[in-house]
Parts: sequence; C-alpha cells; structure tokens
Amino acid sequence: MTSFVNTLHAKTILIATQNEKKRAEIKEILKDVPGIRLRGPEDFPFLPLVEEDGTTFQENAVKKAIPLAKACNTWAMADDSGLEIDALGGRPGVYSCRYAGANATDEKNREKVLSELRGVPRERRTAGFVCAIALAGPQGLFFVVEGRCEGFITEEPKGKYGFGYDSIFYAPDHRQTFAELNPAIKNRISHRAHALMQFKEKIEPLIRRR
Ligand code: IMP
Repeated sequence: MTSFVNTLHAKTILIATQNEKKRAEIKEILKDVPGIRLRGPEDFPFLPLVEEDGTTFQENAVKKAIPLAKACNTWAMADDSGLEIDALGGRPGVYSCRYAGANATDEKNREKVLSELRGVPRERRTAGFVCAIALAGPQGLFFVVEGRCEGFITEEPKGKYGFGYDSIFYAPDHRQTFAELNPAIKNRISHRAHALMQFKEKIEPLIRRR
C-alpha cells in the first residue's frame, strides 16, 4: 500500500537525453531517491528540438532543461557532458559528441582524438570527463550542478563496456579504461556519478517541500 501511495504521489521527471546508455546510468544512480518517477523522451511525443550551441556544459544543460520542462509541463533534467583533454587546450569539450563531424560515430571521434595525441607522452595525456546536469520546472530553472572525473587518454582503445570515449579514458585509481571497468564501478566514480550525487542532495529538499 505504501509503495502504491508513493507511486501515486511521485513527481514525474523527464530525463531529457536520447542516449539510452546515459539514461540507464542516471536511472541506476537515482533509483533510491524517494518520491520521483523517472521518464524518458519516449513518454513525451512532442519534444522541442534544442540546439546545443552553448560554450560551456552548464550553459547547454540549462538551455535544454528549461524549454523541455515548459513544453512538457513537467520537471525536466537535462545533461551535457564531454571530455576535456589538456594537451588539446580542452578539446573536444562541448563538441565531444560531434568532434569528427556532424554525424560522427563514437569510433571516428576516438580516432580523431588518438591521432591528434599521437606522439604526446603519457604525462601530458591528462584529461577530464565533465558532466553538467540542470533541473527545471515549467516556471524555470531550479539548479545546475557539475561533476568531474580525472584520468589519462590511452594510446589505443581497450575494453568492451560503455560508450563514447570510455575505451580510451584510463582511470588511474583503477588501472583500467572506463570501458574495461565493471559498469557498476563506473557508475560510482564517473563525472555523471559526481554530478548526480550533488543532484540528489539538491533535489531531495525540493521534493520534500512540494
Ligand atoms: P552529449 O550527449 O551532448 O552530452 O554528448 C556527450 C558526448 O561526450 C558523448 O557523445 C560522448 O562522446 C562523450 N561522453 C560523455 N559522457 C561520456 C561517458 O561517460 N563516457 C564516454 N564518453 C562520454
């Protein structure tokens, strides 16, 4: 009975990402937050298209969350994430998804990064994954948070899990790439996990106050 009542009163939150793997990571990390019901874009057929033309991850996350929350008349969380490589002056950064061109595959993006870093020694291959997540309601923005995770870019891809740049991102504490790591471990240490921990802290009082 209690869980039925909880479900009935749960606040619906749209996870505004088309990337299923990211959505799965977000759902897994937020599964124990009471009073929320997470939904994907498939439950909202008329989503406005938002251009990700901001210059920072936070700007893009906010740009996506606000119009989606308004259009769907619900709370919406939107994220923007990517990889910043020090030896490339922070590239690919906000262009991570389309680094090798408008419809580039993950593989092409990784190849471009590896070819740009050819000959760069290990100590200069430092990089960080960054994830910004914004929460908005129909009245506007609630908050935006950002998480970061430090590592190195390998010389070749390794591992079978994950997506994007996981197979070339080496996590020094675990001595494996993100694509070799058990996904449950990635979910604990990733930039998205760090952002979602802050997200949890900020959303819980909002849910209680509602
Ligand atoms: P977004 O969907 O605009 O946030 O684009 C993020 C892009 O950054 C993705 O397409 C990936 O290429 C990369 N990226 C973000 N998070 C991760 C991750 O956890 N692992 C690997 N690549 C990631």
